[in-house]
Amino acid sequence: MDDSTAGHAGGGGYTTAAAAAAHFVLVPMMAQGHAIPMTDMARLLAEHGAARVSLVVTPVNAARMAGFAAGVEEAGLPVQLVELPFPAAEFGLPDGCENVDMLPSKDLFSNFLLACGALREPLAARLRQRRPPASCIISDMMHSWAGDIARELGVPWLTFNGSCTFASFARDIIYRKNLLESLTDDEIVKVSGFPTPLELPKARCPGTLCVPGLKQISDKIYEAETRSDGRIMNSFQEMESLYIESFERTIGKKIWTIGPMCLCHRDSNAMAARGNKASMDDAKCLQWLDSKKPGSVIFVSFGSLSSTDPQQLVELGLGLEASKKPFIWVIKAGKKFPEVEEWLADGFEERVKDRGMIIRGWAPQMMILWHQAIGGFMTHCGWNSTLEGISAGVPMITWPHCSEQFVNEKLVVDHLKIGVEVGVKGVTQWGTEQKEVKVTRTAVETAVSMLMDEGEVAQEIRMRAKDFGMKARRALEEGGSSYNNIKLLIQEMGNKQNASG
Ligand code: UDP
Repeated sequence: MDDSTAGHAGGGGYTTAAAAAAHFVLVPMMAQGHAIPMTDMARLLAEHGAARVSLVVTPVNAARMAGFAAGVEEAGLPVQLVELPFPAAEFGLPDGCENVDMLPSKDLFSNFLLACGALREPLAARLRQRRPPASCIISDMMHSWAGDIARELGVPWLTFNGSCTFASFARDIIYRKNLLESLTDDEIVKVSGFPTPLELPKARCPGTLCVPGLKQISDKIYEAETRSDGRIMNSFQEMESLYIESFERTIGKKIWTIGPMCLCHRDSNAMAARGNKASMDDAKCLQWLDSKKPGSVIFVSFGSLSSTDPQQLVELGLGLEASKKPFIWVIKAGKKFPEVEEWLADGFEERVKDRGMIIRGWAPQMMILWHQAIGGFMTHCGWNSTLEGISAGVPMITWPHCSEQFVNEKLVVDHLKIGVEVGVKGVTQWGTEQKEVKVTRTAVETAVSMLMDEGEVAQEIRMRAKDFGMKARRALEEGGSSYNNIKLLIQEMGNKQNASG
């Protein structure tokens, strides 16, 4: 298929400059924390000029990305969605189950990855026909099959894993040195070879997700990634240069830091439409925020996948109530935990109605974080949320649930010093019901007071957070480190294409 006749998300067709330029094919993992930054990446590459982007999607995910597609269309950007049917049923998944957050059980995660792998041939067939041809494939690290397509087409393959360099490097060392082998969950892992001291209990290390069949799949993914031509990182030099340089030396490959990618959004409409349709009216949310004093509201959200158990949610709510601070609390328990709904309706919502807003379902997270009323972000430390907090200059209360989120917590609290720990006891595994409370209401109240009050420590944290927010924004301004990396990446891939004719 010749793209000049195909339907573009970016409407008006490609410019002559773009037609002669690098053509990036982006293959996201269909989980919100991986797909959202890839849509941002598509936008950033296309906005630079001299690059065009094809973003590979499946029907359900394309529908979720309607806001993104409308945005690039309106801006006239050369971005095209390449839609492939998803073979859910063939791999034992419910019909229409096309995103990790739709899996009925984490036990089906490996089926999901295998179904993604089955996109290899249909995608290769589409790319063989595509004119102008792809000049570079950037795939989620989990889609190692995309590397086979790149090799067949004779173009570079770059991987993206959705994490920061700090956590990626730690995970790489842990994996290469097999540091978790034969340790019990509580035993301490010393990540030797990491540029700064890093040790944590095994259960808090990256690579400890308890998902059936994942170990064998991960082994293949890691092995395949050693053949990639470089890595794309959603980060920026000024935040973790030490780790970027050491990691590059260790793997002997270029790490392209081109973030914070979320900063491709500059207005509240685009921010509100990011990732999915919000479950509440944006205007109402903004009006509520406008009515609060600058820096006075704490925003509580645990990403797209974390499941926080009912007892823990109640404890968290009671802690927020006791803190007496205004808050926005995103709850995804919904249909899964009717007892939480009952508890909210049984007095809690009424008691906090003047200062608490509860969002059930998908929140316009970026729009909220960028509002001047937000003074703190209680986060599960998923990397996108963490980086969004950093970019908005908002200090954090860290509440990691599992896997690399604990390493991200260390980056935020110990290295960047822009947050405080809530003090999580234990690990909350993805998709596993756990009855015990890991953070008490008193711990919530204490952390909120520590971060939001006028004490010297809190003020320093706030100042540093603002400073990192400024550095993050500068990285993507003309001449900034990430801006320059995007430019170089486009040039390098464009040159390779021209050299191969
Ligand atoms: N997000 C959002 N609204 C929600 C929940 C999540 O906009 O209600 C976005 C959030 O801004 C981030 C992504 O979804 O970009 C979640 O990614 P993250 O890495 O923080 O966590 P994960 O969901 O992968 O655990």
